[in-house]
Amino acid sequence: MSETTPPPETGSTAPSPTQDPQPCRQQAGLVIVNYGKSQLIEDNGGNLHRCVARRNLKQIVCGDRITWESTGRREGVITAIKPRQTVLNRVDGAQKTRPLAANIDQIIIVTTTQPAFDSFLVDKYTVAAELAGIPAVLVVNKSDLFDTPTRRTLEASVSDYVTLGYPALFTSATRNTGIDCLSDLLAGKTGILVGQSGVGKSSLIKRLLPNLEIAIGKLSEASAQGRHTTTTTTLYHLPHGGKLIDSPGVRDFRLGHTRVGELSRGFREFPPWLGHCRFNNCRHLGEPDCAVSAAAERGEISIRRLESYRQLAS
Ligand code: GDP
Ligand code: ZN
Repeated sequence: MSETTPPPETGSTAPSPTQDPQPCRQQAGLVIVNYGKSQLIEDNGGNLHRCVARRNLKQIVCGDRITWESTGRREGVITAIKPRQTVLNRVDGAQKTRPLAANIDQIIIVTTTQPAFDSFLVDKYTVAAELAGIPAVLVVNKSDLFDTPTRRTLEASVSDYVTLGYPALFTSATRNTGIDCLSDLLAGKTGILVGQSGVGKSSLIKRLLPNLEIAIGKLSEASAQGRHTTTTTTLYHLPHGGKLIDSPGVRDFRLGHTRVGELSRGFREFPPWLGHCRFNNCRHLGEPDCAVSAAAERGEISIRRLESYRQLAS
């Protein structure tokens, strides 16, 4: 052992004999998992590398597009985070906002009848999506359980949102129906599934990612963090194209505290009326000559949505 060449003085950043060829030092990558102290990133060829971030960088999250340099076989250093197109935040107990995931460009709001369809909750998700600048889609799952009257009622509830430009579709994770349509919606995008516990998000994810166990095996092997679990925020590639960022934390993301002015822009049907109220600081809570209330009275805005807004604003 003693006759081996001593390690070079540059330490851990020195190339190792088994290092992959490096045609170019700075490479583009995508953060698949953020473990806090280290990250698992994917290069343009789909290979996974365990990285650490340069100290000067802000907090890295799953979905971040980054620049990195290889420091060894399947190892590297993240040198820069590219500007984020979108970011989903969580507001913690101390009212501090922390990023959860970046570059999500579709939010799939999953609903059903068991637990009951909750329009107010759907409104909260659409507002959060709108404020984050991310398009939302509605999925009504467990369609195998609906008799004709139930289906009609759900179609009526959902039509409110379709009118506003949020696409909707019915699925059954159990019967595997509507999953192709859902895959088509997800293709070419980076999505997340959100919704109440019990609506069938995990069941839908299993349908969308039939090779989830294989993916988890690869992540476990590459990360050297022990067995990877689905509780860690992770980016998965979907077999029909597109990506899904998943973890219980991301699924549970909620609308944080929002100022009233900002909240009104979260209702995508309100902006044409904003600025037309008698008072320029109108909160649309019943003030005289409120353009938003007047639009609701004329049927141009749904009274139910206005009530949701008022509940969130007060
Ligand atoms: P999550 O909490 O949103 O992840 O929901 P799960 O995927 O864990 O599903 C909750 C329950 O609903 C489980 O008992 C599932 O088997 C059931 N479930 C999920 N999808 C369907 C469906 O399409 N039809 C029916 N009948 N049950 C479903
Ligand atoms: Zn007003």
